[in-house]
Amino acid sequence: MKIMLITGGSRGIGAATATLAAASGYAVAVNYNKNKEAAGAVVAAISARGGKAIAVQADIAIEADVLRLFETTDKQLGRLDCLVNNAGILEKQIRVEEITADRLNRIFAANITGQFICAREAIKRMSTKHGGNGGTIINVSSIAARLGSPDEYVDYAASKGAIDTFTIGLSKEVAAEGIRVNAVRPGLIYTDIHADGGEPGRVDRVKAALPMKRGGQPSEIAEAILWLASEKSSYATGSFIDLGGGR
Ligand code: NAP
Repeated sequence: MKIMLITGGSRGIGAATATLAAASGYAVAVNYNKNKEAAGAVVAAISARGGKAIAVQADIAIEADVLRLFETTDKQLGRLDCLVNNAGILEKQIRVEEITADRLNRIFAANITGQFICAREAIKRMSTKHGGNGGTIINVSSIAARLGSPDEYVDYAASKGAIDTFTIGLSKEVAAEGIRVNAVRPGLIYTDIHADGGEPGRVDRVKAALPMKRGGQPSEIAEAILWLASEKSSYATGSFIDLGGGR
């Protein structure tokens, strides 16, 4: 049984990925930060269908938490085959002229440092250089990396720009060690994240401006993540799949 760790697997895109991964035969570590109930519900739904999953609390912005997350996964599931670097945050819509260093530090710690540290721990376990069997890392970026999110959250968009560069660099660094590193760039997806920006109905407000005239579902992102995780994408590394309805 292949083992997949999904950061932020309790809700939204991460939860859809956990559900699809379990249905595809992975044992899944469902990481969450605060919402124990939501993580428990994802694990219960997987177990009810005969799948294998565990819920692990860890704030990926805190290095000691990340170490505990990976050690728990080692002990309870076994050696990792795939990391989905999915957890990410944004904050209330504001302009850059109002931004504070505290806010930037929170967003960059979760969205950038967290992904780097999780990838580091995954490489230690997967790299053939360290006696591992290889594996895959899928980073969840955003179409915002290309658009910049003016008047909403340029800080968030910039953090996703960093993830794009991280994906390119890391993919080359570990390509000869059996690890493929790719990214998905979702567009406007129906999840709770928009409420954190202060606008729960954001997808429905903006959707008419999209070429496809609709928002996306978390399951539509999960399908691409599972393809990148699998051998079906065996020659893809440093690649990006844009899932933005043509945006
Ligand atoms: P969401 O519905 O708000 O869910 C966020 C998930 O991340 C939750 O499981 C949450 O855990 C977890 N999380 C947040 N901060 C964390 C931390 N510090 N440590 C560990 N877990 C943490 O978000 P989503 O929309 O599914 O977003 C998932 C990813 O897709 C993010 O990277 C986001 O930037 C990206 N994305 C989303 C969209 C979109 O339109 N929705 C578009 C482009 C990219 P708790 O349940 O414990 O809070």
